[in-house]
Amino acid sequence: MLRAGEALARLREGNRRFASNQTAASFLSNPTRRAELMAGQEPFAVILGCSDSRVPAELVFDQGFGDLFVIRVAGNVVAPSQVGSVEFAASRYGTRLVVVMGHSQCGAVIATLEELQGHPSSQSRNLRSIVNRVRPSVESLFASRRKDDADALMHDAVRANVRSSADHLRHGSELLEQLIQRDGLVVVGAEYSLETGVVDFFDGCPET
Ligand SMILES: [Zn+2]
Repeated sequence: MLRAGEALARLREGNRRFASNQTAASFLSNPTRRAELMAGQEPFAVILGCSDSRVPAELVFDQGFGDLFVIRVAGNVVAPSQVGSVEFAASRYGTRLVVVMGHSQCGAVIATLEELQGHPSSQSRNLRSIVNRVRPSVESLFASRRKDDADALMHDAVRANVRSSADHLRHGSELLEQLIQRDGLVVVGAEYSLETGVVDFFDGCPET
């Protein structure tokens, strides 16, 4: 299994190919690789990303079958089933890098900001459970901001939400804490730009 730093380098390289339109992954039809994976998988990174249709993890990192263990949920929030999914991949497959990946123009973050601004859209209890998980990390930002600086607020809110999810994974699970302390598991935070296609790893990256 790749160590966290090596896994991160591989993701950075894949995203560089993607953002410069030089993708290499031939996974759209790769029966040989599919057949190999029947014997088992060894995904080198876990990606906790948003469900947004514009942010498909394998594509933006130019990876193929068996490479990434991907968890997608609106707003890349962390609830018990997301923690459990990361625990599963890290303990079962030995994956040592976890990336929480938010993105610009995230609808879940926008909905949360709208609610904080007093314009809540009608939400079901289930949808509210997502907004409620985004809310604490952006609430303090919102209180200390000029309300007319909407772009900067949105940018900071996306990153605050990523940091919050990454921290939750680092500290909300005894198993993951042990893997971090003893076995080199690393949780990093990143933001994908819809505008440029570039992933910026901005939180918790190991020294290279
Ligand atoms: Zn989103």
